[in-house]
Amino acid sequence: MPLVIALNRGRILAECLPMLAQAGIEPDEDVNASRKLIFPSRRDEHRLVIMRGADVPTYVTHGTADIGIVGKDTLLEAPPTAGYYERLDLNIGHCRIVTALPRDAAPERLAYQPAHNGAFRVATKFVSVSRGFFARKGRQVSIIPLAGTMEIAPTLNLADCIVDIVDTGNTLKANGLREHETIAHISSRLIVNRASMRTKFDEIEALISQLRAAVERRRQADGGGL
Ligand code: AMP
Repeated sequence: MPLVIALNRGRILAECLPMLAQAGIEPDEDVNASRKLIFPSRRDEHRLVIMRGADVPTYVTHGTADIGIVGKDTLLEAPPTAGYYERLDLNIGHCRIVTALPRDAAPERLAYQPAHNGAFRVATKFVSVSRGFFARKGRQVSIIPLAGTMEIAPTLNLADCIVDIVDTGNTLKANGLREHETIAHISSRLIVNRASMRTKFDEIEALISQLRAAVERRRQADGGGL
């Protein structure tokens, strides 16, 4: 049975394919030129399955995929489960989860205090991460869940603040917002189904050590940075 690897589509996929290639795992055709979602590897020892990030922990928890590669932001937000182990930081897909407010926000808003009676409103798709962050600060906030498009919520007065992913900060800037506090530093992680870790131990450990070597080579090529 080939090892099934669930991959987070989008920028994580683009960054992890070269690392998988270094570990000898290459899809049998160009994943970007195809609408297929399941790709056997050239040597047919692996099966690559491409999906939305939020679905990766679900497939791995259920054992449908043995392994997953997904952003830590998704793992932080996923329902807690004992279904997988987080085994490797791939040191790719770097970004931050931050709070961001309008560029001209008053100091009280920067302390997450509401402008009027009522709760301070936080728009986000990171509901559970945000709840944890504001609870640790002892701040009562009203979380407004969104599927995306958080950046316009303050301008349209849906929210006082957003919690979102930032890389360069250009998207925030373009929408009149400024990054305020960092909640978490994010990178992509390799997760392994717990049962697969026992039943396919040798194959999985071999793959992890090849990927660990690829991570190390990249780190050295980048001048030992990060
Ligand atoms: P930026 O303008 O570079 O700060 O990018 C911001 C947008 O890109 C965010 O709204 C995110 O949706 C997306 N983004 C940036 N980095 C990542 C990442 N590593 N993983 C997923 N989404 C990201």
